[in-house]
Amino acid sequence: MIHFVGAGPGAADLITVRGQRLLEEADVIVYAGSLVNPKLLDNRKTDCEIHNSAYMTLEEVIEVMAGAEKRGKKVVRLHTGDPSIYGAVREQMDELDQRGIAYEVCPGVSSFCGAAASLRAEYTLPDISQSVVITRMAGRTPVPERESIRRFAAHQATMVIFLSTGLLEDLQKELTAGGYPPDTPAAIVYKATWPDEKVCRCTVESLKETAESEGIRKTALIIVGRFLKGEYRRSELYNPAFTTEFRKGKRE
Ligand code: SAH
Repeated sequence: MIHFVGAGPGAADLITVRGQRLLEEADVIVYAGSLVNPKLLDNRKTDCEIHNSAYMTLEEVIEVMAGAEKRGKKVVRLHTGDPSIYGAVREQMDELDQRGIAYEVCPGVSSFCGAAASLRAEYTLPDISQSVVITRMAGRTPVPERESIRRFAAHQATMVIFLSTGLLEDLQKELTAGGYPPDTPAAIVYKATWPDEKVCRCTVESLKETAESEGIRKTALIIVGRFLKGEYRRSELYNPAFTTEFRKGKRE
């Protein structure tokens, strides 16, 4: 059995209890060394074999995992955040399916959740936005035109933009061309939940300048929307006059 495990956003104690146990029991760990906190490997078995996938191709990762599985070893493939977000896990699963190798996924705390915690923010505020768009700028990996930043910006929903810290000039242009006013609140969250985390609050028009002055070039999320600052309506769920399945509303 191969276990795909979400490592969480950075802080070593933000992995799930299940993920931690799987790491402790693993005979072989293949971890995404560019972003996974190496502290997570501290509690491994003394004879556990470690591979850093930052230096490996898909073929090499599969060879290591399939080989170990054949020898009856317990394998953990450790991905940053949650494996389902820009994790390149599907291609690994397809290869394992072809070889008839069983696998399971243990979810993790994605960095977009870590960043909300760092910002002490709620992405979905009544009267502001009830949707979160998780996306990226096109880079070496293309983004379909129907999902361009410009098109999403037209909704003025909350946006969390991954993998785009090196493209802030174009990102700013796309966000404003799509419809966000240039003074829309924005934030750059660098290494959310890591000890050297940085949280920079700015506006859409000052994203590039802010990243430059803070020296941020990678491992950051760009977060945009009026949820960061501004008027909202309180929830109905906790409104005294509102009846729910669990609580009868009181009339004034
Ligand atoms: N599966 C991961 C994302 C992998 S893509 C997740 O769920 O978070 C890698 C990108 O994620 C980085 O380029 C950066 O944009 C973002 N990222 C990952 N960890 C981060 C962190 N701790 N703080 C800010 N951004 C992070």
